[in-house]
Formats: sequence, C-alpha cells, structure tokens
Amino acid sequence: MKALRIHGMRDVRVDNVDDPELQDSRDAIIRVTSTAICGSDLHIYNGSIPQPRPMTLGHEFMGIVEEVGRGVGNLKRGDRVVVPFPIACGHCLFCDHELPGHCENSNPEHYGPEGGLMTEKGGALFGYTDLYGGYDGGQAEFVRVPYADFGPRKVPDNLTDEQVLFLTDIFPTGYTGIDWAGVKGGEVVAIFGAGPVGIMAAKSAWLRGASRVIIVDTQQYRLDKARQTAHAEGILWENHKQVVDEIRSKSKGYGADVCVEAVGFEPDRSLGDRAKAVINLEKGSDKVLLACMSAVRRGGFVSVLGVYSSPFDNFPIHQFFDKGITLKGGQAPAHKHIDRLLKHVSDGDVRLDDIISHRLPLSEAAHGYDIFRNKKDNCTKVVLKPSI
Ligand code: NAD
Ligand code: ZN
Ligand code: ZN
Repeated sequence: MKALRIHGMRDVRVDNVDDPELQDSRDAIIRVTSTAICGSDLHIYNGSIPQPRPMTLGHEFMGIVEEVGRGVGNLKRGDRVVVPFPIACGHCLFCDHELPGHCENSNPEHYGPEGGLMTEKGGALFGYTDLYGGYDGGQAEFVRVPYADFGPRKVPDNLTDEQVLFLTDIFPTGYTGIDWAGVKGGEVVAIFGAGPVGIMAAKSAWLRGASRVIIVDTQQYRLDKARQTAHAEGILWENHKQVVDEIRSKSKGYGADVCVEAVGFEPDRSLGDRAKAVINLEKGSDKVLLACMSAVRRGGFVSVLGVYSSPFDNFPIHQFFDKGITLKGGQAPAHKHIDRLLKHVSDGDVRLDDIISHRLPLSEAAHGYDIFRNKKDNCTKVVLKPSI
C-alpha cells in the first residue's frame, strides 16, 4: 500500500510499504478514506520531536472497517468509523480516569521516570514517533487500529467524511480546552493561535455559552478564517503588551476568564537544526504562554493545548501564585468527548468542515506538509484522500 512516511527533518515521502495485518484479537484494519495533517504532525516534520526510523504519520483519519480481530464485537467489515487519536486500552488506571492519552498498556516501554525525551511518559498516539508508542499512523491507504473495541466510533451515513473527520482530534481537543476551564456560560474566552485547534476551541466556547470569543494569531489570513468560521474577534499579534492590553480592554479591564494556548512550540522557521530550534523556543514561542498568564484575569483558567516538549525556565510562577490562576494542559482525552461532539455535529449545532482549505490526493501529501507548515496559499487545514 501507499503510506506517507517521515524520513528526516522536513523529509516526508509517499512510500510503498507492506499492508498492515491484525496482530492482536482486539485489532481492526481500516481502509482510510480521509485523513488530515495536524499542527502536531509539524512538530515531527520540523524535527522538534525527532523520529529515528521511517514511520507512517497521521493521527486524524477515518475510513471503512476491512477486518476485525475476534475480540472486536462492536465492529464489522464495512462499518464506517472515525478513530480518536490516542491509542488506549480502555481498562488501565489512566483509561479508568478518562485519560486515554496516558494509557499505560499502549506504550509500556516508555512508561517510567526515564522514558526518553520527556519524563514519565506513558500513552501512545497513532503515527507519533517511537516515543509515543511507535505505531504507524493513518496517512496511508490502510491502518492497524489497536483496541478497536474501545476507540473507533461508527458515524451515520448521512454525514460526509469532512463533516466528521475532525472528531478524531482537533474538535475534541479544542473542546477540551474549554471543558477543562469549566466554561458554563457568560465567560470571555481568549484563544491564542487561530490554527485548526484554536478555531475548534472558539467553536467549542460558543457551544458552551461563552459571551465573547477573542482569538490571537500572527497571521491575518488565519484571523480572517477564525472570524468567518467561528465568529471570533481577531487580534493580530504584534507584541506581548499590545495583545494583553487589547484582551483586557475587551474584558472590562480584568482580563479574560479563560485563556487557551493553541500554539505550542514553533521553532524559528529559518533555523535548520534541532539545537537551534530549541534555543529559539526558549526565547520565542513560550511568549504565548507568558501572554496567556498575563491576559487571564485573577482567579482565571489557562488551558494549554499546544504541545511543549522541553523545559521552560521562565515560567511565571509569580503570576500563577499572585493571580490564583488554574493551569491545565496535556493530550486531549478525545474518547471522553467524542460521542457528545458527534451528536452536536449530527444535530447541526456546529460545523467542522469549513476550516478545510486544501483537499489533496495522498500522493501530494509532501506538498500538503509544505503549505501547511509554511502558511502558503492561505492554507488552514489539509485533508488527504488516499483513494484519489
Ligand atoms: P497550527 O500550527 O496550524 O496553529 C498554530 C497557530 O499559532 C498558527 O496559526 C500560528 O500562526 C499561530 N501562532 C504562532 N505564533 C503565535 C503567536 N505569537 N501568537 C498567536 N498565534 C501564534 O497548528 P494546530 O493544528 O492548530 O495545532 C496547534 C497546537 O495544538 C500545536 O502545538 C499542536 O501540536 C497542538 N495540539 C495539541 C493537541 C492536544 O491533545 N493537546 C491536539 C492537537 C494539536
Ligand atoms: Zn492532530
Ligand atoms: Zn489504558
């Protein structure tokens, strides 16, 4: 079959590889009909989360069940499913606590205090490096889905792939940032990053009754997209003070009730190697987290959805303490929210496909990575179609 594999920094290729096979009675094989490129894939592509051997990327995918192991009673050949991005057993300590991104059975080798680049790493994701379990992902014609009796959700025939594809990751992720903050209604929510995750957080904020949704980005075209698709008020990032002042002026001077960080580390695009990228990280995109801490009101909540994978020495513990801020971050528990969010989609409460800017055959995936990373051609989200 054909699969998009990472070979090195900014080197992704569509290769011919062996078809996946069932390896466990709880596995399923899915024929992928649609799959998307995520901002998280860019961390691997940029070399910020290195992958030492070729691996098929992709954790946002859906398709048709081809084959199921004998332990998978809920699915049969021909079912059409979306698959949440964490690989989770459904029964361990962490799965019992609705933390599928920390499942200890899906990534036992990296569970423990010395688990590689990051500390105390458990949990696995599709197509997200050996650190996250070493599983091949879904930017391919077929994918093996472990624990298929726990993850995949059947989707109604009357909804198109593009209407439901983002239930795999970015919609539950955006929703998680709002849910962690306990948004109940009336809140001012400020979202940093008008990429796919930030826009999904904005849509989720409205679903949960926010009174005002502000979104910050360095790219005007992404702010335009956020306004068109999520009715969010845009602030173009110029500097920390300007952004914080504008957010305060839109929240009676107090600051936002909730700030959502949907950027993550962004190594300087002009820098080549990982070491330089990490140095730049310390001076660069951590500024977004600092701005969240400044722009949130006293007693407010900061949700960190953006991925960080190195320490941050200038963490503003003084603001955290003085303002009594609650801070939470991590992989989104997609399994926890996917059913309620599928209902929102099928009831017509929210539309997800309006953020897609490019639809490409899998064979053009490398081009998709280039335009999404480098923000060419007003790219906001790329969907790959393995069958065209
Ligand atoms: P993206 O790269 O398309 O979006 C990031 C956005 O941040 C871009 O629009 C960029 O212009 C903007 N940005 C850069 N610097 C900024 C600044 N100083 N101020 C404001 N905006 C700035 O990626 P995405 O797909 O939207 O993902 C966003 C982040 O969420 C990534 O770090 C990704 O890895 C992470 N993510 C986390 C989870 C999770 O479970 N927590 C799931 C999916 C994605
Ligand atoms: Zn993703
Ligand atoms: Zn588990």
